[in-house]
Amino acid sequence: MQCLECGSEVASLDNDHLLHCCSLTLQEYSIRHHLPLDLLVDRDQVNLPDTVDDYPQPKSYPSEQARAIFRGLKWGGLLQRDGAFTLLPGEIRRLDLLLWNLQWLSQYGFMFRQEYSYADASHRVVATNRLKIPTTYLAQSAEAHLSPVPPPDFLLSLAVLVAHIGELQAGYLFLQFPERAAGETVIAEASRRGVEFRELDAADHSEGLLLRTLTRSDTKHLLDLLRGELMAIPGALERFEQKTPEVTVAKELVFDAAHFITDHPAKCSNLHGGRYMLHVKVRDRVDPVTGCVVDYGYLKRVATKRVIDRFDHHNLNYASSELAWRSSTEMLCVFIWEQLIEYLPGLVELQLYETTQSWCNYSGPDLEAFQQSGSDSLLTHFVDSSLGESQLRDLIRVKPPTLEIIAKSKR
Ligand SMILES: [Zn+2]
Repeated sequence: MQCLECGSEVASLDNDHLLHCCSLTLQEYSIRHHLPLDLLVDRDQVNLPDTVDDYPQPKSYPSEQARAIFRGLKWGGLLQRDGAFTLLPGEIRRLDLLLWNLQWLSQYGFMFRQEYSYADASHRVVATNRLKIPTTYLAQSAEAHLSPVPPPDFLLSLAVLVAHIGELQAGYLFLQFPERAAGETVIAEASRRGVEFRELDAADHSEGLLLRTLTRSDTKHLLDLLRGELMAIPGALERFEQKTPEVTVAKELVFDAAHFITDHPAKCSNLHGGRYMLHVKVRDRVDPVTGCVVDYGYLKRVATKRVIDRFDHHNLNYASSELAWRSSTEMLCVFIWEQLIEYLPGLVELQLYETTQSWCNYSGPDLEAFQQSGSDSLLTHFVDSSLGESQLRDLIRVKPPTLEIIAKSKR
C-alpha cells in the first residue's frame, strides 16, 4: 500500500508510520484523503481489547495545574467510566485539545488511544479518540489529597470547562452541567468575579443544570477574564472569535390542538381542532468546531419542552392564561417567541401554520430587548392587576342592600 503523504510503500498504514511521516493520525489521514477507515485499518486492529497492564503506574502525584484541569473536565461531566477504565473522549476536529489535556493528565497516568471499532449497528469501522486511565489509578491520586495541598486554580478549571463544553449562541455562552452542584459552584465563583449567569431548566430533561451568561457583556467579561488561560488551550479562543459565515437553520415541529376564538362572529367561536406546524428559525455564525449553528437536537428539545409538550393534545385556550382570550396564530407566535428566546438567543423567525393555507410569520425582540421590556402587553391584558380598576365598573356593580333595608325586612 502506498502512503499518500510520503509516497513510500508500506505493508500497512498505521499510526506508527503516519505519526512519523506526517504527524497525522490514521483517522485524520482517512478524512484528508477521503478514504473509508474500513480500507485502512488492519483487521486485527478492529475491536482490539485494551488491558490495564499496558498502562504504567504514575510516578508522582498530579500538580496543581493538572488537578485544576481534571476538575474542569469533571465539572463538565466529561470523564466517563468504561469497564476498568475512566476515559476522556475527544473529537478528531479537536485532537490538539485532547493532547493538550494529555500533557497534564499524563501525571495521573492517562494515555492517548485512537481505537477502531466495528459494531453491528454502525456498518462501518468507527474511530474514537480518547485519553484513558485504569480507574484504580485515579483512586490512588485522590489519596494524595488527604495531605494538605493548595486548591486548584478556579480560573483554569473554568477555562477548561468553557473550552470543552461552552456553546456560544448569538453572543451568549451556554454551559450544560450534568450535575447541579458543579453548576452552582461556577455561578457563585463567577459572580464574585463580576460575571452573572442565568439558570435555565436543563434542556434535556436531566437532573443537570443549564447556564447561560445573563447578558452579552457577561460573555465578553468572562472571555476577557479567561483570555490568558484560553490562549494556551488549542483552538479555544478561535472557536468563539473566529469569523465564520452566518447561516439560518430551521426546525419543523407539529402539534395537534383544539381552540376557540372568544367573541368571534363566525364558526371559529366553536371549539375546533387541527394540526399546527411550527417552524423555528435560528440565525448565527457557524461554530468552527461543531460545524453547526446550533445542534438540531437541542433546538428540538427546547421547542418540545417549552412549547410542544404544553400545546400538543390540549385546548390552547386553557394551555396558558396568556392565550385564554385569543389563541390566534398571531398570539401564539408572540407567546412561543417569549418561551424560546431565553434558550435560543439566535431566534430570528417563527412561522406557524394553522392550516396549509393559513399561517403567520413573526420576528420578535432579541434577548436583550426582551430582558428590558419583559412580556408583551398584548399577552398580559387579562392578567394585569389593573384589570377591573376602571370606575366604569360602578355602573354595572349591583349595590349591596343597605342595613336599613335589611332591618325592615326582618320586622
Ligand atoms: Zn507516509
